[in-house]
Amino acid sequence: MTQTEALSSSAQGVSWDLTDLYKGIDDPAISRDLETALARAKTFEAGYRGRINVPGGPPPDFLATALAGMETLSELMDRPLIYASLVHAAKCDDPRHGAILSRTREARTAINKHLIFFDLEWVQLDETPARRLIRDPALEKYRHYLEHKRAWRPHFLTEPEEKILDEKAVTGRAAFVRLFDETVASIQFPFEADGRIDNLPLQQVNAKLYDPDRNIRKSAAQALTTGLKNNARLLTYVFNTVVLDHKSDYELKNFPNPMAPRHLDNEISDAIVEALMTATEQYHSSVERYYRLKARLLHLDVLYDYDRYALLFADMPICDWPTARRIVTQSYEAFSPEAAAVVRQFFEKSWIDTELRPGKRGGAFSSSAVPSVHPYILMNYTDKLRDVMTLAHELGHGLHQYLSRSVGYLQCHTPLTTAEMASVFGEMLAFQGLMKAYTDPRIQLGLLCSKIEDSFATVFRQVVLTRFEQSLHRARRERGELTTEQINDLWLTANRPMHKDSVKLTNDYGWWWLYIGHFIHVPFYCYAYAFGEILVLALFQKYKEEGSRFVPRYLQLLAAGGSDRPDALLSKLDVDVTDPVFWKLGLNLLDDMVTQAEDLAEKL
Ligand SMILES: [Zn+2]
Repeated sequence: MTQTEALSSSAQGVSWDLTDLYKGIDDPAISRDLETALARAKTFEAGYRGRINVPGGPPPDFLATALAGMETLSELMDRPLIYASLVHAAKCDDPRHGAILSRTREARTAINKHLIFFDLEWVQLDETPARRLIRDPALEKYRHYLEHKRAWRPHFLTEPEEKILDEKAVTGRAAFVRLFDETVASIQFPFEADGRIDNLPLQQVNAKLYDPDRNIRKSAAQALTTGLKNNARLLTYVFNTVVLDHKSDYELKNFPNPMAPRHLDNEISDAIVEALMTATEQYHSSVERYYRLKARLLHLDVLYDYDRYALLFADMPICDWPTARRIVTQSYEAFSPEAAAVVRQFFEKSWIDTELRPGKRGGAFSSSAVPSVHPYILMNYTDKLRDVMTLAHELGHGLHQYLSRSVGYLQCHTPLTTAEMASVFGEMLAFQGLMKAYTDPRIQLGLLCSKIEDSFATVFRQVVLTRFEQSLHRARRERGELTTEQINDLWLTANRPMHKDSVKLTNDYGWWWLYIGHFIHVPFYCYAYAFGEILVLALFQKYKEEGSRFVPRYLQLLAAGGSDRPDALLSKLDVDVTDPVFWKLGLNLLDDMVTQAEDLAEKL
């Protein structure tokens, strides 16, 4: 394929109009906003420094005025940088875009320097006045912001101690993280096909695990194992070090267990996470049934680990942009005309950039921008059915961000656990729309299988990864430095219950934990994916049961943004996330999808 052929799809010409933020990269308003923000930040500092952390606390009205000022100021100082990031993402190879990105970023840092004192003083304020202020009606609007900022307070060490930890982390933890990244990125995986060996990077070898040809998949699996084995000594040492470093950190900071710091970040409790994981593990039979079906569809007697991702149908139809737009809009319309009205604006007012263009960032995202404007979506539409789901996903984010503008800039952002709520819900809506639009059972089965496999990857696999991580941290604590083989055992032990006999995990598979960056970058990150996905499946099941009664409450939930803890916001939908029964709603829906796939397979 030539460059121009590769960069053309039915979405050519669909680009966003960023003029609601600024008229262009030379708009004098950009510099003006940055100058105004800097001047206001200096005034803010002069007016409030030393007056928040005072004996007995500041008067409530005084603090409320400060917060309101901080909120408008934050928007003003972020707006140029957000604009520059969007311009840059749309065309990274224009040097002027790189330049405006660094200019606005540096300016923002310089402004923010005058504001850092504010949160610090609030966190340092004594517990009694802080509690009283959090409950004060004058501060109702900022209650959660104030509360959440203080959540880390019991885990702060003294200022000199924090400073030393910070400084030594650069040559400690951070150095090992970088060593890991650079090592994995430089591994040459010796992929053998037709008697020839190609040395491939990780991404390319992984992509071959989806190939319809089993020999290619098998070769890819062997290449992956060999490449990892060749680097196992170094990578194992990095794992041992990072896990031990995590232990020093959480113990020094008075956390009860290795997962606790992550829970605090995610605004979630140990009990909720355990309820979610245990409920998930009770549904391993859905995984088994699905892989037995997949083995039948692939005409294989035994499904090995390297067969799991095999593409089932290589001949799925293409879907052009106008069709995608129609299917997605109609799916939202059927759910809620109010939601559809928001979604339509993205198309009609050019808030979405979806054409393929040289220098454009890959992937897709929805930027909330600032509440006084509106979100913007970037994606790369390639006419595949999968892109329709991506469009619905990003529009879900867009809808969430659009509605939550009402709670203001300081509280509109959600924690990781609920960040994917509206996006995955939007995917479910579009999925239903696609199943209506394509009635051929073969296409329906293709759609359904890819939806099931995506959900498995975000639900069951992430729980397995978390269980592995728990056992790794436990073993490192109890047994000291671990060998590669010991960790291989932990990995296989964590993986086996998910597949039982439906997939044969080879001993080679034992090495495949060595390249997973989540374990190194952000310990215990993975369960949040499972949380988000099952939450949505459960909410979708509730929608199916409650019908139109569900819709306004769901939209209110989105509009609440990050203005409270996820469990508190969800309780308004009569959802109790500590109750395993709630999680089973979602897991049942996934199980039903497997049954539906089995039924469709009968019709082929
Ligand atoms: Zn997303």
